[in-house]
Amino acid sequence: MKESASARPVLIAGGGLCGISTALHLRSPYLLVERERQLGGLATTEERDGFHFDRTGHWLHLRDPRIRELVTGALELAPVQRRARVHAGGALIPYPFQANVHGLPRAMAYDCLLGYVRALLARGASEPRNFEQYILHHFGEGIARHFMIPYNAKLWGVHPREITSAWCQRFVPIPSLEQMLAGAIGSADAELGYNVEFLYPRRGGIGALSAALAARLDPARFRLGVEVEAVDAERGAARVGGEWLDYRALVSTLPLPELVKRLVEPPAAVVAAAAALRWTSVRYLNVATRSLAPGGYHWVYVPDERLPFYRVGVYSAAMPSMAPPGCSSLYVELASRDRVEPIAEVVRALCEVGALASAEDLVFAEPREIEYAYVIFDERYEAALATIQPYLEQRRIYSRGRYGAWIYNAMEDSLLSGRATAELCDAGNEGSR
Ligand SMILES: Cc1cc2nc3c(=O)[nH]c(=O)nc-3n(C[C@H](O)[C@H](O)[C@H](O)COP(=O)(O)OP(=O)(O)OC[C@H]3O[C@@H](n4cnc5c(N)ncnc54)[C@H](O)[C@@H]3O)c2cc1C
Repeated sequence: MKESASARPVLIAGGGLCGISTALHLRSPYLLVERERQLGGLATTEERDGFHFDRTGHWLHLRDPRIRELVTGALELAPVQRRARVHAGGALIPYPFQANVHGLPRAMAYDCLLGYVRALLARGASEPRNFEQYILHHFGEGIARHFMIPYNAKLWGVHPREITSAWCQRFVPIPSLEQMLAGAIGSADAELGYNVEFLYPRRGGIGALSAALAARLDPARFRLGVEVEAVDAERGAARVGGEWLDYRALVSTLPLPELVKRLVEPPAAVVAAAAALRWTSVRYLNVATRSLAPGGYHWVYVPDERLPFYRVGVYSAAMPSMAPPGCSSLYVELASRDRVEPIAEVVRALCEVGALASAEDLVFAEPREIEYAYVIFDERYEAALATIQPYLEQRRIYSRGRYGAWIYNAMEDSLLSGRATAELCDAGNEGSR
């Protein structure tokens, strides 16, 4: 006898925050499958000799009341007042750059203000088409040259002109004239503006968040260390650890190109669209030191092309439990995607930006990589997604989360995405009863 649709489980592929949230919110039967030996995906923490490291800075912001309730009901989070800096022209100024230019060398500050005013006066009706144009249009030539272009080129691994402006509108706030002027004379409220406070677990790093949420799942409904190897979209079945399993719906949080690779006989158009997707990886270092970082910041942005990293963060400055007393745990996000920088070069640069007091204080530096880190929003992005996602959705495959939906998002967005997808699957299930 054929199994009824509602008796088959929803299969959740990937147990990062999106997969965990889907499972937590689903009322229908499900099975969650995670390739790694622990749940949490990018929101996990490793420990060595009392030093804790996230997969680079993972600072939590919660806006949605129901997600806040879910998270704060699962673990204790400390509010932390952000201390973010920018290292430019040899100076360490508060973030955001455009609201604090008075702290820069005088010629640089003048460039930034003049460029902003010129851009404001010249601003016409024409809309910027790419990220470089967006920066020049809204920030002006000085801020573009001294911060926005070099920093973003280092972060993205491609020049901002290759990124479309559609992406920037949500994520790159536009400076106001008042903000620029106050910043130029040093009267801006330094930490005013974007995400001034974040939340962070008191112990165990951001991995404590995933662990606390995962502890609410029924262990009989997830499998660790098992891959989703193939997906037969027409049949509604996936090969999991060598076995074919029928699903009612598949919630996939695998990176979208990885899901398409696993489809059995996908249409040529879907394969071609997936080949157009671009992303960038992040190489970073877990760094342990036997002193407190002299800069006193939680993280610093480093646009300078001479220096081998674009951002450095000090976990233990935000939460002292991340390192033994008197010591620091750091992340160093490297600009190069292929070259292995000599550690002496990195250490010298860390001293220059105020992340390390002295080279002798280094305890260890371990390289790490996130293969899928940032989706590149280029001119082929929209069309590729418009081909792949409807094909999947029509076959009850919901590709969600940061890399499933193939977007730029934060942890809360992945939790929200999981909740919305659970509701969608439950509604479908009730309809099929
Ligand atoms: C460098 C960096 C810094 C960030 N900083 C912040 C920050 O400060 N604040 C913030 O809110 N957000 C931050 N984020 C974003 C945050 O990490 C994501 O929004 C969130 O963790 C994504 O969760 P997810 O479940 O969508 O994806 P993931 O965490 O990627 O989960 C996907 C899961 O699928 C599993 N998987 C993959 N292939 C298979 C397979 N074949 N079979 C089974 N399982 C598989 C993976 O192992 C993984 O566990 C940052 C991201 C990056 C890259």
